[in-house]
Amino acid sequence: MGIQRRQFLHSTGGMALAALIQARPVDAAEDGFCVPDDPLQALMAGNRRFADAWRLALQENRATLRTTDPDPRCFNSPRALSTSQRPWATVLTCSDSRVSPSWVFDTTPGDLFVIRNAGNSAFDEAIASVEYSVSVLKTPLVMVMGHSGCGAVTAAMDDKPLTPSLERLIHPIEETISGSSNLAEAVRRNALATASTLIQRSSALAEAKSSGALKLVVGYFELTTGVVTLIK
Ligand SMILES: [Zn+2]
Repeated sequence: MGIQRRQFLHSTGGMALAALIQARPVDAAEDGFCVPDDPLQALMAGNRRFADAWRLALQENRATLRTTDPDPRCFNSPRALSTSQRPWATVLTCSDSRVSPSWVFDTTPGDLFVIRNAGNSAFDEAIASVEYSVSVLKTPLVMVMGHSGCGAVTAAMDDKPLTPSLERLIHPIEETISGSSNLAEAVRRNALATASTLIQRSSALAEAKSSGALKLVVGYFELTTGVVTLIK
């Protein structure tokens, strides 16, 4: 991010920032970017293609998974991507190697702005990154996505000793899931809490959401089926 833009964002007040978030002055298609009319519908349609391919791969016991029907209508031009980006959704999710958003939602380069950490918590860096994607890149959709078999949430449910850094990592998860003995339920509670934290700790995101410029949803990715379920 350039210094001028940083100073501009720093100097804008709440109302000005809300106006900045709502403004979308340049037509994305004219610039060579493909932006779907309904980002959430596009995200979930991509996941249905992924889950179909996932299920086939499981049934046939194949070592590799290949999506069979990528959406040919929506593909960002490499020329546009070489100098800019116009992602249409932001995904905050876990660092788990099996939870790659571009793969899970069957998207192409330039579609998703992705923030990841083990346990998909709303640390300061994650909040700032989501603010950047919404305020500057103007993504209209943010999904917080937890997943089955999450190691970070499992660690937060255990009492095994961890390194100091790992203790700090799982601390917000421990606070959120206190008392839970069911991993799937704890993952859902943690993802919902992360979404709430984004709004509670960022006035820019809260304003974008209340103005209708931002849709904030929470998803749960089930590794045994490949399906993402919306839980909020
Ligand atoms: Zn995880």
